[in-house]
Amino acid sequence: MHTTALVLFSGGQDSTTCLAQAFSKYERVETVGFDYGQRHSVELQARLVVLREIRSQFPQWAHKLGQDHLLDLAVLGQVSETSLTRDTAFKMESSGLPNTFVPGRNLLFLTLAAALAYRRDLQVLVTGVCETDFSGYPDCRDDTMKAMQLALSLGMDKRFLIETPLMWIDKAATWSLAEALGGQALVQLIIEHTHTCYLGDRTHRQAWGYGCGQCPACELRLRGYAAYAAGLPTTPPRSP
Ligand code: ZN
Repeated sequence: MHTTALVLFSGGQDSTTCLAQAFSKYERVETVGFDYGQRHSVELQARLVVLREIRSQFPQWAHKLGQDHLLDLAVLGQVSETSLTRDTAFKMESSGLPNTFVPGRNLLFLTLAAALAYRRDLQVLVTGVCETDFSGYPDCRDDTMKAMQLALSLGMDKRFLIETPLMWIDKAATWSLAEALGGQALVQLIIEHTHTCYLGDRTHRQAWGYGCGQCPACELRLRGYAAYAAGLPTTPPRSP
């Protein structure tokens, strides 16, 4: 029986929903984030604000929330040219992948998270990867996660479970999941404090939160929120 988890937590909508889900299942939950020279430190700032708000607004979860870890991954900037870390525009590459793609980034995240979980004696790694919205990222696919789970368990001689609560649901269903877990209080916390916008815009307040409203991340978030708010049926969970 698993009782402890490490949530890969970026301060965005998805990982905040994953964190809430972890509280509903596990007794002790720790968080890990990665600083890889993101163009905007707002994302790193959002992590701390969300954790603070959860501590103050959700006493039923706060006692389960343990240490937060931030790992320096500046090395990613040395191996990739991407619009997430450099001042270049977003576009689709000839490979069919968006230029926000850092090859294998999630593999690195999971490996480091597993090493940390090993040291902290945490059993489950929780990540908000999803095949439904961004089929472009091969390191977010279910098969990749299963292969990583096996590789990490063998390579560290410890049985890790990689949990992906958002794998088969879309962004509208992610809002619904947040509501089911933490009610409107959690939905409002996510709107107000989580960060999604690729451009780091915290000045324009939209119905679904802060953001430019134009970049691919904002577009995805606003479409999902619109469907959720309109009570439209969301994509039924898809399985492999
Ligand atoms: Zn944006």
